[in-house]
Amino acid sequence: MKTRAAVLTGYHQPFQIREIELDEPRAGEVLMRMSAAGLCHSDLHMVDGDNIVRFPIIGGHEAAGVVERVGPGVTRVQPGDHVVCSFTPSCGTCRYCSTGKQNLCNAGATILEGSMPDGTFRAHDDELGDIGALCMLGAFAEHATVHEFSCVKVDDWLPLDKAVLVGCGVPTGWGSAVNAGGVRAGDTVVIYGLGGVGMNAVQGAAHAGAKYVVGVDPVAFKRDTALEFGATHVFATAAEAAQATHQLTWGEGADQAICVVGVMTEQVISDAFAVIGKGSTVVVTGVANPNDLTVHVSGSEMVFHQKTIKGTLFGSSNPQYDIVRMLRLYDAGQLKLDELITQRYSLDEINEGYQDLRDGKIIRGVIDHTK
Ligand SMILES: [Zn+2]
Ligand SMILES: [Zn+2]
Repeated sequence: MKTRAAVLTGYHQPFQIREIELDEPRAGEVLMRMSAAGLCHSDLHMVDGDNIVRFPIIGGHEAAGVVERVGPGVTRVQPGDHVVCSFTPSCGTCRYCSTGKQNLCNAGATILEGSMPDGTFRAHDDELGDIGALCMLGAFAEHATVHEFSCVKVDDWLPLDKAVLVGCGVPTGWGSAVNAGGVRAGDTVVIYGLGGVGMNAVQGAAHAGAKYVVGVDPVAFKRDTALEFGATHVFATAAEAAQATHQLTWGEGADQAICVVGVMTEQVISDAFAVIGKGSTVVVTGVANPNDLTVHVSGSEMVFHQKTIKGTLFGSSNPQYDIVRMLRLYDAGQLKLDELITQRYSLDEINEGYQDLRDGKIIRGVIDHTK
């Protein structure tokens, strides 16, 4: 079938809206009509070369929609089901899935090539040839053939244009604080970066009972929004946050520092390592160019103060459990999703949407495929 998609053909290029040919679902695969797609910073990492991908590729890895058809052997979903896709697939049987680390599933090996796990592609174009789909999704398209490993069935009364955020940004941020950071009641947490992921780290830390949630971001509008999501203190610079944290904790330092800036730098990780106290943890969630070495700290301080620096993918969440859990928190009025969305765009407005993200104008933008 034909569908319209936003395709990247190389680094530092804008998205091109093209009509492409989409294959029918094969065994284990699902044809989805996309309802909404979130504008996550990771798609800009692809444009800027901070994620090394195969081109051409359809962008978009926060996806929500309705199942239209399924291929042979599909058991997780059926036509008509409402689905939020996880940006990382989970097969359920590999070493990682079967030991509670579904976010590290081996079926995710090709998500940056954008092929199915068997290395083949479902989108094609006469001029461009085989087209990948970022994270095996390619949410910036009106239809997509995805693997059932990526599909999480959700309650059909939930608005998909909001639920879509639970495919990446919300659990990544929330889980960075709650799962990876292990925030507990009474802790002091410092969060570097208050965008679409960082805002959810704030929300998660507040949920988990943190006494102080200190947010750091140079953009005033994001700092103001963070106060509505549960931050107790916000600062434009890491130096101001460090001074305040020192005072708030009577010199002990923070229990967790969560690094969720758009592009990770050595400075952010060094600031985070300095702001935490003894026995405490730095969580690194944001990415940078894989060739940049961004962790340079004193090994002796790490030993004598028993500090931990850990990476996390998808906030160490389990897609099948946490996507449903997050949405039920939303349904119960305990998780903010509507307030994360600053602006909606049509598929044709995708480049404007990403410019707004670069300019710091939005917490989260959403492509509304019905617009
Ligand atoms: Zn993302
Ligand atoms: Zn697996």
